[in-house]
Amino acid sequence: FLLLRKFEAYGFKSFADKTELEFGPGITVIVGPNGSGKSNISDAIRWVLGEQNIRNLRGAKTEDIIFAGSTKRRPLGVAEVSLIFDNSDHALPLDYNEVIITRRVFRSGESEYMINKSLCRLKDIQDLLTEAGLGRESMTIIGQNKIDEVLNSKPEERRLLFEEAAGITKYKHRKKEALRK
Ligand code: ATP
Ligand code: MG
Repeated sequence: FLLLRKFEAYGFKSFADKTELEFGPGITVIVGPNGSGKSNISDAIRWVLGEQNIRNLRGAKTEDIIFAGSTKRRPLGVAEVSLIFDNSDHALPLDYNEVIITRRVFRSGESEYMINKSLCRLKDIQDLLTEAGLGRESMTIIGQNKIDEVLNSKPEERRLLFEEAAGITKYKHRKKEALRK
């Protein structure tokens, strides 16, 4: 399987300085006072994994995810987040033992995606992640309101979650693409 080794953020929301988190074996718990940026970490992870809806990141417009400045610091012009995965058992179909996925956005709205520091398309990242079961609607990140949503959802909606968890979704995507060609 795929192990997240390291998280790096710069200019994303409250992370005005380059922030690095290394994840060791076992479970990692992040604690801190209210407003210290815990949820911003999960927002950042969601974002780099391809989230396109700013509202799912608790913002209204793209600029809301770029460091907005404080009394002592000027706003930044760019937000960048990287996830460094241990790919030694090749859960991601790439010939590298370490895979770095990076997303960057400028205040102008221009966006960049990178795999191992080479520019790529969003689709390249989505395809790669779907391969490893980290699809867009996957249960990789479960937000506080998600539990209620699952309990209250219609059976057809809930079915999508089970399909994702069972690894069927990628085949459905492929079928759809194949039929389009
Ligand atoms: P809680 O324990 O209440 O859930 P938390 O640790 O999850 O708190 P977050 O929601 O991650 O806290 O962080 C909120 C903080 O991030 C707020 O102080 C907010 O001002 C700051 N913040 C959000 N967006 C930006 C931005 N674009 N620029 C600067 N700071 C930001
Ligand atoms: Mg929070």
